[in-house]
Amino acid sequence: YRLTLKEKGIYLDDNQWSAVTTTEGPLLILAGAGSGKTRVLTTRTAYMLSELDYSPKEMILVTFTAKAAKEMKDRMRIYPGLDPAILQQLVVGTFHSIFYKMLLHHEPERWDAANLLKLEWQRQAMLKEAGREIDLDEKDFAFDQALTQISWWKNHLLSPEQVKAKDIWEERVSYLYKRYEQMRQAKRLFDFDDMLLGTHRLLSENPRLLKRYQQRFSYVSVDEFQDINKVQVELITMLTEPTKNLCVVGDDDQSIYAFRGSDPSYILSFKERYKNTKVVVLDENYRSNHEITSSANNVITTNRTRFQKTLRAQTSIDQAPLLFYPYDEEEEATMIVTDVKKQLENGAYPREFAVLFRTNSSARALLERFISSSIPFQLDADGESFYRRKSVRKILAYLRLAMNPDDSQAMSDLVGALFLKQHVIQDIKATSIMEDCTLVEALPHIPGLQAFQTKKLASLPEKFNQLKTMSPVEAISFIESSMGFNDYVKKQGNEGNKMERGSDDVRDLKVAANLHTSIHAFLEHTEHMVAKYDELRKQRGNIEAVQLMTIHRAKGLEFKHVYIIGAAEGGLPHDYALDAWREGDDKPLEEERRLMYVAMTRAEESLKVSTPMMRRGKKAFRSRFVREMQRFAPKQQLSQSERSR
Ligand code: ATP
Ligand code: MG
Repeated sequence: YRLTLKEKGIYLDDNQWSAVTTTEGPLLILAGAGSGKTRVLTTRTAYMLSELDYSPKEMILVTFTAKAAKEMKDRMRIYPGLDPAILQQLVVGTFHSIFYKMLLHHEPERWDAANLLKLEWQRQAMLKEAGREIDLDEKDFAFDQALTQISWWKNHLLSPEQVKAKDIWEERVSYLYKRYEQMRQAKRLFDFDDMLLGTHRLLSENPRLLKRYQQRFSYVSVDEFQDINKVQVELITMLTEPTKNLCVVGDDDQSIYAFRGSDPSYILSFKERYKNTKVVVLDENYRSNHEITSSANNVITTNRTRFQKTLRAQTSIDQAPLLFYPYDEEEEATMIVTDVKKQLENGAYPREFAVLFRTNSSARALLERFISSSIPFQLDADGESFYRRKSVRKILAYLRLAMNPDDSQAMSDLVGALFLKQHVIQDIKATSIMEDCTLVEALPHIPGLQAFQTKKLASLPEKFNQLKTMSPVEAISFIESSMGFNDYVKKQGNEGNKMERGSDDVRDLKVAANLHTSIHAFLEHTEHMVAKYDELRKQRGNIEAVQLMTIHRAKGLEFKHVYIIGAAEGGLPHDYALDAWREGDDKPLEEERRLMYVAMTRAEESLKVSTPMMRRGKKAFRSRFVREMQRFAPKQQLSQSERSR
């Protein structure tokens, strides 16, 4: 049978074959990137269905994203002799999609899709409502991060009563958590986490139902097991309790979702929990060329907490990872666009390229350059446009008010930065009507403020006037130093508001502003980019396009050509990890290193890593991960390397 597969072009090495043919009992495949873990999972399932005539109705295949699930089905479709009608019946999906269907079947009204808090702003709106009860500033408190924290607690099966807050921030968020749950339940709404919690409750409370599902799902396989969290582990454990037919595959070196509650110790302790686990080790990397594999290994072996694995490379077109040294973010973006364009002209396909970045705000320049190029591309990133980040939005509000002192949206964005409460916006509007002046001119005349506040506001109208004649960069510096913005950022830091690194964002904003000579033109540009960003985020489906994505989103995927941008200290590794490291906590830095490893191992033939010389307008230091790579092509610029080929 292995030979028939080979004839059809599906070759498996000995270890892979042994995993594919181990169909009963607990099976653990813990192996490095590109070693064929996902391929083993799909081949094994297809083998059980077509060769051993297992029923598709007793199997489920779980993965972490809808994209990955689709890719798995696609991979099985080409399997020789597998009836498409059978494949059709097989459940392949994410935890959420699989368990949501189950809930919907048993409690259709409660779980009606109309009751889903689908969008982040809906969930945030509830937190904001709760936040007003404890006087949190609607515009300044980091409600987005509060949501992440709440989700973390929920996925750890911690109820609001069980949460033990460590600091003032967690205290506030645990209050929000309690109120969020109360409001949600009163309105009979649910969020994505509730889908898993709901299933957990349903199965725990109904032993007979659980028994039925244990029969229904008697063969469970899970991909990317290193990123599983507590509630997911519990669900999987419950379902496979009688049969123990559980196949898990993963790579602890690719665990990159700790902030969402994923925990690689579940994969590392799998053997202890299931005594007769068969362990299969895969040690060939079939994806990347030899040089890329060794560089990636050099990086990851620097981590101290990891399970020892080695990976050999297979393919022989050996091009070492290439480093390139743009001056700054702008030149980095230009160089990549030029480089991709050249290769497209030489016959490459857009979909063969991916440009990976650590955070979506670090991709601002890249995105803008792609937007103004003719290259088809797709964006896959979490979160909002750079220009919507809290501190950036505040600075832009100053600029907008300078241009139009009656812009009430901008004024409402601004009030927090002026150390005023959100409700004061009503007083500002009333004053402007009564005094027949603009919103900006009304500031010194707001009634009911304390003397020191009024004094601070007194000089503002004149300062807004001065802004008008400045260049965008000058204006931003002026806002920071002379209009109170620096004090505001400092206050945020002191109050445990967990704001984004406000001053870093402003420096990024200055780099962007530097390309424009007038505030008006710059504001127009930012509005265009925000609109474009939202439009790009809505695009779905596999179009023929270059992929611009966060490293997180790239997990499990592969591309012929990969670019990694921003490989500078503070970028990748991220500043927050470096801060923790300086204080003696290695964990975040090790997670950053795993991110680098994930990013590098997406590449098949070519890997190009950009280490900009300037970052946020200051000298940047080369990422330690670049040093750790040890193997890369000699120092050269991207364009030169193209010439020398
Ligand atoms: P990751 O850790 O990134 O998720 P993975 O271990 O799941 O990687 P796969 O995506 O399954 O790896 O495989 C990587 C690539 O290697 C795929 O293109 C796959 O088709 C190919 N591959 C895997 N095994 C073999 C093999 N025995 N012969 C040839 N190609 C293989
Ligand atoms: Mg995989």
